[in-house]
Amino acid sequence: MQTAKRIENLGTENAFKVLAEVNKLKSQGKDIVSFAIGEPDFNTPENIKEAGIKAIRDNYTHYNPSAGLPALREEIAIHISKTRKIKVDPDEVVVTPGGKPIIFFSIFALINPGDEVIYPNPGFPIYESLINFIDAVAVPIPIIEEKNFSIDVNYLESIITPKTKMIILNSPHNPTGGVIEQKDLEAIAELAIKHNIIIFSDEIYSGIVYDGEFNSIASIKDMKERTIILDGFSKTYSMTGWRIGYGIFNRDIAAHIANLGTNSVSCTATFTQIAAIEALKGPQDDSIKMAEVFKKRSKLIVDGLNDIKGVSCLYPKGAFYVFPNVSQACRNLGFESSVELQQYLLHEGGVAVLPRNSFGVKNKGEKDEYIRLSYATGEKDIIEGISRMKKAIEGKK
Ligand code: PLP
Repeated sequence: MQTAKRIENLGTENAFKVLAEVNKLKSQGKDIVSFAIGEPDFNTPENIKEAGIKAIRDNYTHYNPSAGLPALREEIAIHISKTRKIKVDPDEVVVTPGGKPIIFFSIFALINPGDEVIYPNPGFPIYESLINFIDAVAVPIPIIEEKNFSIDVNYLESIITPKTKMIILNSPHNPTGGVIEQKDLEAIAELAIKHNIIIFSDEIYSGIVYDGEFNSIASIKDMKERTIILDGFSKTYSMTGWRIGYGIFNRDIAAHIANLGTNSVSCTATFTQIAAIEALKGPQDDSIKMAEVFKKRSKLIVDGLNDIKGVSCLYPKGAFYVFPNVSQACRNLGFESSVELQQYLLHEGGVAVLPRNSFGVKNKGEKDEYIRLSYATGEKDIIEGISRMKKAIEGKK
């Protein structure tokens, strides 16, 4: 069967391929410590699970509006108004099965072929994939170690052209754990206003910030109208498998986004949305505790990595990822790239990580090698995994 041409432009999330490889090795009896998966290892808090179970018993098992249940949209509007210090109305909220469709729908609804979209690289691979899919032009903005895994605003300014339609931001950032500082958000906002650019702010890790409060670009004066916020329940409430996320748009755009929902998924599971209402309205202790545990683990993993010869790692500021520089380790081992290191660690070391190229091809002039480790895994596994890495990296003849 002949496929449509556009399907050849669609990328993927390499992490799922590595996961399949890890699972295959595990099923063959191999003992692997995995730092590959990007989801909290905690179970969904009991009160949320109970609300979901009760919702099924109460027959919340039918279709609901494409934009989401009014009661949930209302709670999300209250939550975002409070946390971002802006006024959000329920009809500016669209609920989707996970946060990911918000990326898909926003790019479909707002970007024309030929428009330029600036996106973080390394970054969540779905941005680049979808930009290419619709024949727009994907323009990478490097997320660099020298800037603490934030954005160089001067460089950003230099790649803006009259065709730039959107800038995608992701803070806290997957895969580096970097956070964009308030002063940089302000400078980016100024550029967006000056050049009439839409900001797509992926804030899926907003609930996992280690020092101080989470800052959103939407909170800056005159930015709400030109910003799309993506957030959700997957990471903050450990609800990845429930599939629920949302976007905040101005109301005209929200109607188009909801219509894309009508044309694709119809709606988000109704009982999942009832559980999400409980997530927002119920006690926040579990979610807060989870973020505290991630912070503690971040120190454990960074200190462990920095103790490996040829590896250096910055402390992350949020999310649950670290992105150590492994250039020297690769050189010591005679590896050309982090892909070789990743394969070596998986097959010889019994440790699963993701290589740099799972998050986009290297930027022009980028020389260093990196891998991503998710520390959404227990302390015992972190200690064991790091010890295996140290042995594999330092011990090879
Ligand atoms: N955005 C980023 C940066 C992510 O890392 C992820 C998930 O890994 C998502 C969006 C999608 O989240 P969800 O599972 O809610 O679709």
